[in-house]
Amino acid sequence: MIGGGPAGYTAAIRGAEYGLKVALIDSSPRLGGTCLHVGCIPTKALLFNAEIWDHLKHAAELGIKFGDGGIGSPTLDWAAVLKRKDTIITKHVKGLEFLMKKNKVTVIPGYGRLTGPAQNGVHTVDVDANGAKSQVKAKNVMVATGSEAKLLPGLKAGDRILTNIEILSLPAPPKSLIVIGAGAVGVEFASIFRSFGAEVTILEFLPRVVPVEDEEISRELARVFKKRGIDINTGAKVEKVERTAEGVKVSYTDANGNAQTKEAEKVLVAVGRSPNTAGIGLEKTKVELERGFVKVNETQETAEPGVYAVGDIVAGLPQLAHSGSMCGMIAMAKIAGRPYRPIRRDRIPSCTYTEPQIGSVGLTEAQAKEKGLQIKVGKFPFAGNSKATILGSHDGFVKIVSDAKYGEILGVHIIGPQATEIIAEAVAVMELEGTVEEMMFTVHAHPTLSESLLDAYGAVEGMAINA
Ligand SMILES: Cc1cc2nc3c(=O)[nH]c(=O)nc-3n(C[C@H](O)[C@H](O)[C@H](O)COP(=O)(O)OP(=O)(O)OC[C@H]3O[C@@H](n4cnc5c(N)ncnc54)[C@H](O)[C@@H]3O)c2cc1C
Repeated sequence: MIGGGPAGYTAAIRGAEYGLKVALIDSSPRLGGTCLHVGCIPTKALLFNAEIWDHLKHAAELGIKFGDGGIGSPTLDWAAVLKRKDTIITKHVKGLEFLMKKNKVTVIPGYGRLTGPAQNGVHTVDVDANGAKSQVKAKNVMVATGSEAKLLPGLKAGDRILTNIEILSLPAPPKSLIVIGAGAVGVEFASIFRSFGAEVTILEFLPRVVPVEDEEISRELARVFKKRGIDINTGAKVEKVERTAEGVKVSYTDANGNAQTKEAEKVLVAVGRSPNTAGIGLEKTKVELERGFVKVNETQETAEPGVYAVGDIVAGLPQLAHSGSMCGMIAMAKIAGRPYRPIRRDRIPSCTYTEPQIGSVGLTEAQAKEKGLQIKVGKFPFAGNSKATILGSHDGFVKIVSDAKYGEILGVHIIGPQATEIIAEAVAVMELEGTVEEMMFTVHAHPTLSESLLDAYGAVEGMAINA
């Protein structure tokens, strides 16, 4: 295994569980990859703080008073916020180290490179650990080297021009922030730092925010973000990013073709992630690339027999921790000769941890129509859900896209409270090819946010109870 992020470490553990002898080579000082150190986990840790902070802003409404006689107000201890985030990361790094030992996975620190095709069925990987060279031999090699943030041409990340790495350790929340790119990473940081008081401006090239989501989800996120005071500029082409005496200046052409500039304390560049596929020896093998991403078959095997690729480097796979880890488990099952099911790329949940959250799976309404499918759509607003009222979180809705004839659920799109949790039901139902009718008669506990799904299934037949 080359790479110890979620795709690599999950596959390593699963391989060991199957009784295979597994070595995991990682070039970082600590296991866990982007996800654990500068991705999923730290962002969600900050998001939790942001959520609590947002609740505290409405403390009086919740019947909570501060200080003597209730005249004090809460203050934010940013150093403690960062410390908590780092403690969570360290806990999980230790957890991974424990799991490697428990499963007898040999962890080899260093930078791994394939030396070429297998010789007599055995692959050789060169390992360079700060100049100390060694080789590892194996029948199968899995490459899970992940990705890194793309920057705009000529830009270098630093203390004001930020990627996901620098923004996670700022000495204080910025007073103003420009976010270039409104994909999941961009909108999550926009949401977090808006909660912490930053004046946030989003510049997105495409006509809508979260452009891979259903159009109605994009519209609702934009509506709520605007209500939260986030300035959204779609159709904006960034021309130049420069440092000023105090901060940064971004020049861009707006949707109407007019030249604009915007200044802020910091700018986050969140325009996508490039696969780490250069310099790892792939060119010496038959492995095929597509715009830098590795092409694989349904078992994650590349065109080079015995070489597998998993995670963010895979062509056509969403760059998400859970898609990478599942592909790692599938590849290991294949190597171990155990049963597996190829991943259904249209059943990978997509979760965006903004306020409000987004959870979606399957076809959007537009995709279903493009495929020429006859569909029925049902929509239920969280305004009609009692648990959402209890949480004080009424924005958003659940939208179901279903097959008109058989009622099979083809897509579920949720924006609202805990959308990233409740989407799990939809994934399971779609995996089992469930229908609207079956789900309309599936008992959902009360009062829960999941009940909004029950109402949305009903809405497909024009029969929601609470709207
Ligand atoms: C800000 C942010 C937030 C995110 N939030 C989420 C989220 O909430 N949910 C979600 O599902 N996904 C999220 N993602 C995406 C997620 O982090 C990635 O999809 C995931 O980390 C990819 O896993 P991976 O194992 O393919 O690669 P990585 O996690 O990038 O790990 C690759 C590993 O390989 C090592 N490596 C690289 N080259 C070599 C080499 N030649 N030799 C040895 N080792 C090498 C690296 O050191 C690293 O440890 C987020 C990403 C970002 C940037």
